[in-house]
This record gives sequence, C-alpha cells and structure tokens, in this order.
Amino acid sequence: AHLDRTAAVDGAVHSYLHVDQVGALAQAEAVDRARAAGEDLHVLAGVPVAVKDVMTTRGLPTTCGSRVLEGWIPPYDATLVTKLREAGMPILGKTNMDEFAMGSSTEHSAYGPSHNPWDLERIPGGSGGGSSSVVASFQAPLAIGTDTGGSIRQPAAVTGTVGTKPTYGGVSRYGLVALASSLDQAGPCARTVLDTALLHAVIGGHDPRDSTSIDAPVPPVVEAARRADVSGMTLGIVKQLGGEGYQPGVRARFDEAVQLLVDRGAKVVEVDCPSFDYALAAYYLILPSEASSNLAKFDAMRYGLRVGPSGVDAPSAEQVMAASREAGFGDEVKRRIILGTYALSSGYYDAYYGQAQKVRRLIADDFAKAYETADVLLSPTAPTTAFKIGEKLDDPLAMYLNDVATIPANLAGVPGMSVPSGLADEDGLPTGLQILAPATADERLYTVGAALE
Ligand code: GLN
Repeated sequence: AHLDRTAAVDGAVHSYLHVDQVGALAQAEAVDRARAAGEDLHVLAGVPVAVKDVMTTRGLPTTCGSRVLEGWIPPYDATLVTKLREAGMPILGKTNMDEFAMGSSTEHSAYGPSHNPWDLERIPGGSGGGSSSVVASFQAPLAIGTDTGGSIRQPAAVTGTVGTKPTYGGVSRYGLVALASSLDQAGPCARTVLDTALLHAVIGGHDPRDSTSIDAPVPPVVEAARRADVSGMTLGIVKQLGGEGYQPGVRARFDEAVQLLVDRGAKVVEVDCPSFDYALAAYYLILPSEASSNLAKFDAMRYGLRVGPSGVDAPSAEQVMAASREAGFGDEVKRRIILGTYALSSGYYDAYYGQAQKVRRLIADDFAKAYETADVLLSPTAPTTAFKIGEKLDDPLAMYLNDVATIPANLAGVPGMSVPSGLADEDGLPTGLQILAPATADERLYTVGAALE
C-alpha cells in the first residue's frame, strides 16, 4: 500500500532519492512467512520504514544528497539499519535531504527539493525534509532522521508530524555519515507520539561500534507514551525562546498547548537561559569546524565522484582532489568548509572555535540550572510555519535563524521532541511544540508529547 501511495504522490512531493520496491516487498514477504510459521515476531515486524539518505544501507545507494557520493553503494549497514532489519521492518527507500544535512529546507539537496504535503510550494523543513514529508504524505508510517541542529524537529514542526532527537549517544552513530560528530544524533519520525516511541525503542541502545554510545538500556519511552500523564510535572517555559521573531500564529498555538497541559495537571514556571542567545553563533562555528574536518575524507580517491582538472595531461592527486571537490560539493557545503577551515586555523582557533566551546559549556550550565526547577522545558520548535521554496535560498543567515530554538539541545546533548500544536491562523499551516528533557530522561518527552494528543 505504501509503495502504491509513493507511485501516486512522490512525483509531486519528492520525498525519496531511492525507492527499494523489490527489497521492501521481499522483506515483507519474509515476515509473512515467519508469521505463518508461528515464529515470535517483533511488534513492528512487517511495518515499513523509510531511512534518511545519510545512513549507510548495504546494497542501497547512499548519497547524503550530494553529487560527491552519487552512485556510491555502501558495503555495510549502519547499526540502526541492522536493528530495523532484525525487527523485520521492510526498508522502503532512502529519503531526500539537504546536502550532508546542511540546511533547513532540503533546497540544498543536489537532487532538488522535497515539497511540503500541506502546500507543495513550501518547504518540508530540513535537513530531513524527505523523512518528514514521507510520513506526512502517508508514503511511510515511520521514518529515520538525523538531528545535528534541529533536522528532525524542525521538519516535524512544519509538516505536522512528530520527531525526536534522542539524548546524544542514545542511538548509535555507526554508519551515520558524519556532519558534526559531537552534535549528530539519529532519531525517529512518525505521525503519533506512540509510533515515534515504538521506533525509538527499536533503534536505541548501546553499540560498541560507537565510542560515544551510552552504555545503558533505552529509556522507557513506550511506557511513557502510553501513560501520557503530566499531573505533578513542572514545565519550564524558556524565556529566551518564543518571543520576538516568532510568528503570532506559532505563539498562539504554543500558549494554548501549554494551557492544555496545565488543565491536565502540570505546573508551569518560567526559566531563564541567558546563554541561549549565543547558541546560534556558537553552533555556526562548531558545526563548520567539525564538518570541514569530517568532509576532508571526500577526496575523490576513496568514494564517489572523481573528475580530472581540465587542460591538464597528467594531473597530480591534489589537482584531482581539488577539481572533484569543486565539481561535487554544492555552495552551502563549500561555504561551511571555508568557514570551518578558517575557524580552526592557527591564530584564529582561540578566538573562534575556543570561544564557541566556552559558550557551549555555558549553555549546558543553563540547562542544568533550568532542570533544577523544571522536569521538561518547552518552546515553539520553529519560529515560523513552512516558508516558500526559494524564499530564503539567497540569504543563509535567514535560513540559519530557523534553528534558533532547536540548536541549544544539540550543543548540550539533551533530548528533544517536536509534537504538532495545531495550525496557525494566518496561513493554516502546521506549528510545532518543542519539549526538551535532561540527558537520558528521554521518556519525559513522550509523557508530555502524548498528553498533548
Ligand atoms: N539546519 C541546521 C543546519 O543547517 C541543522 C542541520 C541538521 O540538524 N542536520 O546546520
């Protein structure tokens, strides 16, 4: 049914970069046979899932939305993909994304943007707009995203779906093509909080292949989503998030959602996180620095695209690398490689990268202090509803500002979720409410998220 739906709508939505019709059907049939034979199956066995094209999938193309990796077929599965397969979940295909997960709209994909099913002229968020739109357009019930600065939560907000960035280290990064290793976190996307929890429980847990993986069981997310009881909980409203610069309809739906939680027995306090004002600036030094280093491996020798420099008979390795990177990387990727290389260069390192790391510490301290009085923190997920395709493409700063509310969680490593909070009055488009919890207390996101449904 989902493959039929894709055949009908993906020409317009463009959620997928690759659909694995044959593989998905074979996996579904294998589950049917196991079920007929009376085997003990996982609760999600046979439920299909779409995977963001930044996760390696054995035998299936993995491009990260880039020309640099066009045609590359990984020889191994990411750990979370292995877990999906072991649960018997057919993999429908690979979803579109901004190139190397840099962006908030999928417009930086080398293969063209995905479209928001609510209004095809608008963006489905980014970088995981393929995963949000695939779920919102009913092409898949579940999808995998990754969130380095908001790429699961902001797409969820603007498409009226649910998405979780687990605690840093809660889901293995083995097989996740790194953008910024200290910020990257894979997580689940779905249409309901309980569905999101079920997928979270499949992909989470310790992995010896990821040195930053947390050595503890997955938090009790499914139980929390089923309980959905916020009575006695204290919700912290972040003073720095949700004021100026946020669309009136986003703020109105946020206030109503908070009131609903109060009606259901929660208490509200305001929390002050002054360093959050510097989160965006710190992020756009730390992320490009790590990205410039991670992307150095795309040297045209080991993976993907290789082009020779024009007019040179016997080019050196360096000339081939330079020509291939020039041809293969898009503008946003180049912009960040240049920024990161500059920030890390000797003479500037302390002033930029070192300073940003200090701000990162202050943000973590703000969270720690806020969690002394509040069980979870709340804010709008994104300052606006989905903007028009093309609207912010020539203005990188305007694009970056879309992540102002989601980035602090990545800098501090704490978990976050976006849940739908209704349609904005002025444009009738979805808004999202963000829930943030202390590290390793991911279950609290699900308790609060489910209480809102
Ligand atoms: N939009 C943010 C960026 O461009 C977040 C990216 C992400 O989470 N992968 O960096």
